[in-house]
Amino acid sequence: MGKTTAVSARHPLRLASDPASVFRPEVRAPGSALVDTFGRVHTNLRVSVTDRCNLRCTYCMPEDVAFLPRAELLTFEEIARVVRVAAGLGVDKVRLTGGEPLVRRELHTLVRMIAAVPGITDLGLTTNGLLLAGRADALFAAGLRRLNVSLDTLDPGRFRELTRRDGLPAVLAGLAAAKRAGFGPIKVNAVAVRGFAEHDIVPLARYCREHGFELRFIEYMPIGADPWERDKVVPADEILDRIGRAVGDLVPAGGDAASPSADYDYADGGGRVGVIASVTRPFCGACNRLRLTADGKVRNCLFALDEADARALLRSGAADADLAALIREAVRAKWAGHGFNAADFVKPDRTMHAIGG
Ligand code: SF4
Repeated sequence: MGKTTAVSARHPLRLASDPASVFRPEVRAPGSALVDTFGRVHTNLRVSVTDRCNLRCTYCMPEDVAFLPRAELLTFEEIARVVRVAAGLGVDKVRLTGGEPLVRRELHTLVRMIAAVPGITDLGLTTNGLLLAGRADALFAAGLRRLNVSLDTLDPGRFRELTRRDGLPAVLAGLAAAKRAGFGPIKVNAVAVRGFAEHDIVPLARYCREHGFELRFIEYMPIGADPWERDKVVPADEILDRIGRAVGDLVPAGGDAASPSADYDYADGGGRVGVIASVTRPFCGACNRLRLTADGKVRNCLFALDEADARALLRSGAADADLAALIREAVRAKWAGHGFNAADFVKPDRTMHAIGG
């Protein structure tokens, strides 16, 4: 695991009392923004609730993997406390990730807790969809509104090859259930790996257009267990070109500068496609993201080599102000960007399933 760094200063904070009300706006203390040395304001916290998963995607984790013991995972109360402290520092967007977050039981309880945190105005979840059909209603009722479902192919054979498991019908049933539950727009995230994506880009684009899902292709990154090969990256330009030729003309959609996705709309109004092009169009300059791992480490970048141990503070009786200081410190220490296009790039020890998307 990455090197853990120390904490220092104190800071008064305000906390919520009425869990029933969802998305209560809140006034933040002046100067509470999490600004790094490059002037990037951090408002988006990705929270991994487990490193466990019910798939074994080849670009993410090894087949044989040792998962964290339950006692090392943050409890829902600990996660909610970190979110509350982060909200006091200007974070207003939370995304729940894993591993596969839905393998953690009663996840809707955590959703309800986070939805009640003052200042959190946007709560999302990224899932592989295998368990979604049975959970969509409870998650929606608990206050979840944004859903990203990871799906790289509609071909059962390639699904098995990529994930080392079966389950495509369950994922498609999960997407249908999420739509019925009221989620929207539902995003479908597909990692484009050379050798697979060429066969899947157009069928996925047609499927998502037909069902009203927003498709996003993610360029293959060096964050998995497998040795990364640059020539397995399918560049964003190629993905967009394939869709433009076979499905429909695309026009830039503009959108949130801090969003990792470059979005395009079909010129005929038939929907939206995005590309998350961290290899060929790095977007670190506008990054607003922080991460909390399932075992309570704060990471200021997906590719960080260092991390700060919030769990140690949470379990040592430390005050919220110490947690706030730790988060500030992590932001202050943030580098300019991932650097994996540089010769001296060092891949983090943790693989994707132990960090969260
Ligand atoms: S690689 Fe790191 S700095 Fe770049 S966008 Fe991702 S999290 Fe932000």
